[in-house]
Amino acid sequence: MHTSLAIKTMKSKFSILTTAVAAIVLSLPLGTIAKEPEHADAAAKVSPADALARLKAGNQRFVAGKLQHPHQDSKRRAELAKGQRPFAIVLGCADSRTSPEVLFDQGLGDLFVIRVAGNVLDDHALASIEYGVEHLGAQLIVVLGHQRCGAVQAAKETIDSNAEAPAHINSLVTAIQPAVEATRGADVEATVKANIDNVVEGLRSSEPVLKKEVETGAINVVGAYYNLDTAAVSFTEKKKE
Ligand SMILES: [Zn+2]
Repeated sequence: MHTSLAIKTMKSKFSILTTAVAAIVLSLPLGTIAKEPEHADAAAKVSPADALARLKAGNQRFVAGKLQHPHQDSKRRAELAKGQRPFAIVLGCADSRTSPEVLFDQGLGDLFVIRVAGNVLDDHALASIEYGVEHLGAQLIVVLGHQRCGAVQAAKETIDSNAEAPAHINSLVTAIQPAVEATRGADVEATVKANIDNVVEGLRSSEPVLKKEVETGAINVVGAYYNLDTAAVSFTEKKKE
């Protein structure tokens, strides 16, 4: 394969397809995509603190039943057709009750969302997050867990009974296992929160991209816990190392 040609082709694709999927990124050595895609609002980077404030405000509207449903009209859609600049990345659970755009009252182009049961981190999720940071300019990463998470509950029960989960579900059990072991004897909510913390730490220490961005303060990674009963999201904001 002609690498230089492939990279050139990829670069030109990126300039056209500003929403290029992480799979393309994965096929390239790190650092080969030096140039960011063109965006309609390329200057509009949102700081980690402002991004967090936006999410908190949106969740307060959700809790209060005063949703604004921002950025969901045809004007917004037309703007976004030229490019995206999401202000935050959310790694959330696949649970149907925890859609980040709904919980945070956001619209199209606002959040770069990765969802998987138990909001666990794997290489595909990490690649997507790196893409969101490096090429879309998001500066806040939120790990969103939630009350009564079925994936965490299943992991806890499986490990406590020395059983093995069926088929591919076992991979989730393995991913959540450190949180389960750290919270033996505690209730499932303690395990949910430990799992959030573990994933936050995994992102903060991830080499070679995210760790240095966290260390310089260019990005922040926070944990978030969604309470199904109250609709409130509480954040755990760790001090920068
Ligand atoms: Zn869940």
